[in-house]
Amino acid sequence: MSKETTTNNTNYLCDFCGKKRDEVHKLIVGNGASICNECIDLCSNILAEEKSVSIKKANKNQVDLTTLDPLTVKNILDQHVIGQEDAKISLSVAVAQHYKKLFNPSTDLKLDKTNVMLMGPTGSGKTLLAQTIADYLGVPFAICDATTLTEAGYVGDDVESIITRLVTEADGNVELAEKGIVFIDEIDKVTKKQQNVSVTRDVSGEGVQQGLLKIIEGTKIRLSAAGAKRKNPQADVLDIDTKNMLFIVGGAFIGLEKVIDDRLNKGGIGFGVDIVDESKTGDLSLVEPEDLIKYGFIPEFIGRFGLITDVKELTEPQLVSIMKEPKNALYKQYKYLFKIDNVDLEITNDAMIYIAEKAKKLKTNARGIKAILENILLKWQFQSTSLVKDGLTGITINKEAVDNPEKAITVYNTKKKEENGKKL
Ligand code: ADP
Repeated sequence: MSKETTTNNTNYLCDFCGKKRDEVHKLIVGNGASICNECIDLCSNILAEEKSVSIKKANKNQVDLTTLDPLTVKNILDQHVIGQEDAKISLSVAVAQHYKKLFNPSTDLKLDKTNVMLMGPTGSGKTLLAQTIADYLGVPFAICDATTLTEAGYVGDDVESIITRLVTEADGNVELAEKGIVFIDEIDKVTKKQQNVSVTRDVSGEGVQQGLLKIIEGTKIRLSAAGAKRKNPQADVLDIDTKNMLFIVGGAFIGLEKVIDDRLNKGGIGFGVDIVDESKTGDLSLVEPEDLIKYGFIPEFIGRFGLITDVKELTEPQLVSIMKEPKNALYKQYKYLFKIDNVDLEITNDAMIYIAEKAKKLKTNARGIKAILENILLKWQFQSTSLVKDGLTGITINKEAVDNPEKAITVYNTKKKEENGKKL
């Protein structure tokens, strides 16, 4: 207990500002030094400011999160993601606004948080959009799959495990994790069951939505530090507030188009019925909150997503672009890997178009591209080191080689070695 609370001695001064005991509200007197409540406030503000600056600058690009420009965010997304213009614009604005609000709090206004719901076919870039933003901003980013989540008390991960993951991504830095981005995939799998066919509880549906709702709205969570204590080795528990985290949820929302179409067509055929624009049916961008509630979300949950946007099915030319244009394009990655073995890899334009056609048929968007390319290049990757010893210097994947990888054109630095290569 300090002397100040045990004596009424008014001769004490604050060692920082020099004010007397009776000039301040509180004076804490320690062993040979005193500090007043005003100086404590000042010091704690300096420390808070320092922490906040370190978070703003905690990224390799030195992005100033306080003044993010949506246009810059969109430009970054353009370097990594092909197409998806609407989603890119919506996300850029949402993210810029989110961090602007967070670092410029209003004294008299309560600024609502805008979480984002991203709908659209699998493999079309939803995760990539969220990941690219987080990488650029240098904030911790956690991805989880809603299908693995269950209500607390049931077998599986409860929703708090998402936050543990974020703290781990932040290397145990709670302050940083509190400003991170969480991406929850397959959110459409936690809808309420339409018909209650089973008498058992709906553990994967409404209960999970309720759990997620709490962390999305903002709640204080006490985590066991087991998975996330690298920076706090002494701490057994970590207290973390989720109110400033940005939540992006994604999913394919299969069947939602039908709900939208039904709404647009309601009233049937006849006099006085609104004319529906045929070209717009099946369009997820026309979604209204009521459609999502009908689809199986609880209204409070939908209410937390100020921004609902969609990604589109990728076209064949877009699939070709995805192969070669983005910063981390698969073609660039494979070229790099072969180059390590001193082999020049080429994929002809015809081959790329044919791969895109095949991927389109698989209906898995860009995921199909990776699977097809992997299949074509697997044998070549397997043999490249030994073929290089035989003189292999180049492989060209033409259209024929897409279905028959052994038909790829090989270049050897001697005739004899070329014959060896044909044995593949
Ligand atoms: P989703 O989350 O929509 O299911 P992902 O973002 O996980 O799909 O996409 C899977 C992979 O496909 C990505 O890692 C990326 O390589 C590629 N991809 C998907 N869509 C795009 C796109 N629009 N532009 C560039 N690459 C894409």
